[in-house]
Amino acid sequence: MFLIRHGQPGHEKPGIVLDGQRYDLSPFGEDYDERFFASDGLRRLAAYLDVQRELLLPVPAAARLGPPVARPSKIVCAGLNYTDHAQEMALPLPTEPVIFLKAPSALSGPCDDIVLPPSSVKTDWEVELAVVIGRRAAYVAEADALSYVAGYVLHNDVSERAYQLERGGTWDKGKGCDTFGPLGPWLATPDELANPASLRIWLTLNNMPQQEGSTANLIFSVPYLISYVSQFMTLLPGDILSTGTPAGVGGGQQPPRYLAPGDVLELGITGLGTARQVVRAYPAATD
Ligand code: ZN
Repeated sequence: MFLIRHGQPGHEKPGIVLDGQRYDLSPFGEDYDERFFASDGLRRLAAYLDVQRELLLPVPAAARLGPPVARPSKIVCAGLNYTDHAQEMALPLPTEPVIFLKAPSALSGPCDDIVLPPSSVKTDWEVELAVVIGRRAAYVAEADALSYVAGYVLHNDVSERAYQLERGGTWDKGKGCDTFGPLGPWLATPDELANPASLRIWLTLNNMPQQEGSTANLIFSVPYLISYVSQFMTLLPGDILSTGTPAGVGGGQQPPRYLAPGDVLELGITGLGTARQVVRAYPAATD
């Protein structure tokens, strides 16, 4: 299944993509949130579709998409998880996963604008494969880890490099600004992806290729990361685990290329759709 959420920010309704067409699932009566995943909602949704599929109404083509998961309890990100990205950032290859937390309030829709914080001069892009957790995961063995996955989703781990790297201590300062987590267009359940460990992942800036990689090149695999993170914190249903970005971020270029108002990012992962974000200055539009 390909799950979407559509509607205005904070008022998204559930939906689904069937044969390339978006359908509204408001009558299903549940949002895709922690309770949904925790209570076997995917199975309940499949049963609902078996009966109701012919009665579904399409979502208007112009409707906004929101993040396909309602606000998770946390977003855990892996840093430096592709060899080529660690090299371009001039940082040593990690011997253990680097992890940090991204504020759930940073999440936005896949085609929402990215708003530069007022004092930002080094906002950058990071296309990533993100995992949505399907059930409570604590002290999970790597061999069991994939059974905790509800699905996969495209994520842009937007990052303010000065906040992240030049303001002392944790990376979190540069990762949690509003609009820094465009997510979607859809959550793909694992049965929809032939092999999540071999997906093309790419990003362009103003139609110029920047990032081009494969999830086959993750240093630490999805099962390893789920197991690893679950040794330090309990992952709850609906939580997002973002697996790191390949080379080609703006901060890795000579000279660095950071985002400016009017820039357009397009990104995608095989099977997870594409997203498009326009960059603009703070304050956010109110319309
Ligand atoms: Zn990242």
